Amino acid sequence: MKFNRFGNMMPLPEEKKKPYLLYEEPFRIAGNLYFVGNRWCSSHLIDTGEGLILLDTPCASAVSGLIDAIYRLGFQLRDLKYIVVSHAHPDHYGAVNALVHLTGAKTFLGEVDARDMRENPERLEGMNKNLDPFNESFVPDVELADGDVVELGNTRMRCVWTPGHTVGVMSHFWELEDEGVTRKVGIYGGAGFASLSPERLRKNGLPMSLRDQFLESIDKVWEEPVDIMLGNHPFHNDTYPKRQRVLRGEKDAFVDPGEWHRFLQELKDLFLAFREMPQEEIDKIYSVSQWEMYYGEGKQ
Ligand SMILES: [Zn+2]
Repeated sequence: MKFNRFGNMMPLPEEKKKPYLLYEEPFRIAGNLYFVGNRWCSSHLIDTGEGLILLDTPCASAVSGLIDAIYRLGFQLRDLKYIVVSHAHPDHYGAVNALVHLTGAKTFLGEVDARDMRENPERLEGMNKNLDPFNESFVPDVELADGDVVELGNTRMRCVWTPGHTVGVMSHFWELEDEGVTRKVGIYGGAGFASLSPERLRKNGLPMSLRDQFLESIDKVWEEPVDIMLGNHPFHNDTYPKRQRVLRGEKDAFVDPGEWHRFLQELKDLFLAFREMPQEEIDKIYSVSQWEMYYGEGKQ
């Protein structure tokens, strides 16, 4: 039992030291939706017709790759209007302040995570520095409540509170048009559960009830219809293997209406196993990164 892609998926030490090694070419997923993330952290760009929405940033040191990706796709950084952050972990918000400085974009975060960030600056700062020396916490312009909709141009993104991975993590759902077909897009916020062992929760001053909430959140979004499933991290929805399939001629490799349930079921099953484990076993599993096992020798 290694928890696979929900386990320890830290990049190799060399890649953490040299974030440019994580960079990959950006690409269009479908319609107005683009992948501008790297091999560690997913970032998605939506061209709404009235400006760009960015869903999640990478760590601060990877911001140059993100900016390169935006231009390489033919967009202008100055058109970035909204930055929506799925949850208060620095591998999803670390570059927010840099991007706001460059663009003046408006920022969004779930209200529960926003409060957690405000009230626990030391815990957040510890996480920031642990993942990247330049990560910074940020103060969102908009604090989203459960069910709030972020709207810009042709896009209406519904934000659903799915606590567990953090106290305020949100999942996102919207529709896009792809060559005359309407596709439902969904992304489950916060699929990792490493931080939900009793010891870690105690250490971080977080409530034990997050363990129950983690399961309730999966049930909460189970019925959402999702044609294109995205991930907070590329290994959550096999972003790069799908991209390879597209390049081999399988045009709709990202369209898979069964993936949402397969993903949520796997997440639930693995979490239930995790919940029964003694701390020593958890520590042993998490002491080794599954990164190389997932990505293999070469790049996927
Ligand atoms: Zn996270």
